[in-house]
Amino acid sequence: MDYQVNEKGYYGEFGGAWIPEMMFTNIEELSRRYLDIIHSSEFVEEFVKLLKDYVGRPSPLYFSQRLSDFYQTKIYLKREDLNHTGSHKLNNTVGQILLALKLGKTRIIAETGAGQHGVATATVCALKGIKCVVYMGALDIERQAPNVKKMKMLGAKVIPVHSGNKTLKDATNEAMRDWINNPFDTHYIIGSVVGPHPYPDMVARFQAVISKEIKIQLAEQTGSELPTRIIACVGGGSNAAGAFYHFLENDEVELIGVEAAGKGVDTSETAATLKVGSPGVLHASKTMLMQNSDGQITEPYSISAGLDYPGIGPMHAHLFKTGKAKYLYATDKEVLEAALLLTQKEGIIPALESAHALAALNQIKFKENDVTVVNLSGRGDKDMQTYLDYFGY
Ligand SMILES: *Cc1c(COP(=O)(O)O)cnc(C)c1O
Repeated sequence: MDYQVNEKGYYGEFGGAWIPEMMFTNIEELSRRYLDIIHSSEFVEEFVKLLKDYVGRPSPLYFSQRLSDFYQTKIYLKREDLNHTGSHKLNNTVGQILLALKLGKTRIIAETGAGQHGVATATVCALKGIKCVVYMGALDIERQAPNVKKMKMLGAKVIPVHSGNKTLKDATNEAMRDWINNPFDTHYIIGSVVGPHPYPDMVARFQAVISKEIKIQLAEQTGSELPTRIIACVGGGSNAAGAFYHFLENDEVELIGVEAAGKGVDTSETAATLKVGSPGVLHASKTMLMQNSDGQITEPYSISAGLDYPGIGPMHAHLFKTGKAKYLYATDKEVLEAALLLTQKEGIIPALESAHALAALNQIKFKENDVTVVNLSGRGDKDMQTYLDYFGY
């Protein structure tokens, strides 16, 4: 079975480009040209060089002795938290800025919720000296002041969106409107494996460097490039897609995504899309999403802003439906405890998002010789206030 996107932009029944007629020009150009560009030797050379010298790749694959002892098995951490700007997000924005330049674009737009993707986009725009506009819900601007300041210092223009709930969904609508009005000079950088084709596939390819490195590093450290399982948190699903990508062809490797249960999957305050959602169209893609019986998107909730998304990338909807990957969920409370455990066992403070993957370790029955790789998608600096409030230091 093929788990990659097909020529029409679908993963099984999910995906596609459910775009308004007016966005056709933008999407058509991108779909037609992205593969040729990202496979060209010139692009590959530049991308690999920036990943190495600017992002700091390869990120280490670290054998966690104390976590392994605790769970009586072998646990490795893929250290995406050590990337420049503190997460996996830069792998994608570096890829997309190079692609935008090859397409001759002179202006970048993005939407952001918590501000992490906005900062990653503003960062690569500064790197390449290209104009950057970031749409952000007015409420999010209030809640995420440090990231707004970073974007401004990096030279981006942050435009507050006052419609709807003044959060991510509204910012996304505004960014799409901008793109429709500027089809020739502007590239829209989407931050996860979501949105219309070719974004899910394109972003997955840029993040696939994670699993490519894991294979090489595991072979060096264990003698086999295949682990027993890989675990990654899932918001839109880009760090998980990157961590799974090169293992999709290896049926013996168990793939586990972890969604944010928030206060619990039987409460209304959750973001566990695959658990409580149903098929529909969100951000121009057919996927699983959280909606009420009228098809209205319901507001998601998670303690971690990066997982607070009412949908999931179409690739994951397909991996879920076919049973190729398994999806678990962790509550806010489980996540906070898992973050503290890693911090005090290894001296690594994880991002709240990444701590969802760590929390799932409690739900797995390990054999002593199992090799488990946890994708540590980001570092916890941005989450210190939440940790301090909860643990009361
Ligand atoms: C944004 C973010 C995520 C969630 O995004 P995905 O596309 O699901 O990977 C996870 N971890 C960190 C650290 C993030 O910043």
